[in-house]
Amino acid sequence: MPIDPNFQKNRKKVSKEAGVAIWGPVVPPQKLGIRGSNVAVDWDICTGCGICLNVCPAQLYNWRETTGHPTSEKKPFPIRESECTCCYQCEAQCPVQAIHVVFGPPKTFTAAVPLMFAQIIGSVVYGIVLGPYLGLNIPFYVGWIILVVGLPFFFSPAIYFPKAQEGKSVMDTTVIVDSGTYGIVRHPQILGCLLLMFGSILISQHWLSAIIALPISVLFYRYVLNEEKDLVVKFGDDYRRYMQKVPRMDLLLGIIRLLRRKKRL
Ligand code: SF4
Ligand code: SF4
Repeated sequence: MPIDPNFQKNRKKVSKEAGVAIWGPVVPPQKLGIRGSNVAVDWDICTGCGICLNVCPAQLYNWRETTGHPTSEKKPFPIRESECTCCYQCEAQCPVQAIHVVFGPPKTFTAAVPLMFAQIIGSVVYGIVLGPYLGLNIPFYVGWIILVVGLPFFFSPAIYFPKAQEGKSVMDTTVIVDSGTYGIVRHPQILGCLLLMFGSILISQHWLSAIIALPISVLFYRYVLNEEKDLVVKFGDDYRRYMQKVPRMDLLLGIIRLLRRKKRL
């Protein structure tokens, strides 16, 4: 039986070792529980083959002796789980499915998010209170339209993921969602961010808004490219098929393809 992906709900955290959580029940040497939170290894399933140690590019595991355990006498311990780059190699290659990796965005991405909100809110408030910097009315109204279009894309994970994966965190993707906005583009939330930033630039028409948004947009796009590599490892051919069906973030192409699919049905 594979590791329970809902172990954080279904099990109790009984202690910590070197800052890494231990999820019970633990009755040594027969029952050892799960080690780790975002990189979790079920020691009661693990057979100690060592594949995870070999494939991990971050080399975040080391061995622990587990003398007397029925499946193996040594187990991988995710001692530096915070350094996981979410490549999913260990999870995909573990022969007994003893590992569960929970996706976490890179630190640069997390740091850019508040800056993005500041850019959007600041630009919109500027546009409303002082009017567009360049005084161009048509781009100002186009900006509002783009902003409104971007909102449902931005909220896509909150709208579609809880239903598709039974209330589990959107950070812990366990299924490929291809309905709603995910049937138009593969990364609706990032597209939503880009649309909100672009719309707010047009609303404020201020150079500072554009200067802030540009590097954030590049960072988000690079993040999407990296995330896709990880998703291919995680979901394999299912994700490749989804890639063929739905474009990455091309809104127009996505709508055309969606309409074609609907026509065929
Ligand atoms: S997902 Fe990749 S980086 Fe993270 S622990 Fe597994 S092999 Fe290492
Ligand atoms: S790949 Fe799986 S079975 Fe092998 S050591 Fe790692 S967790 Fe254990």
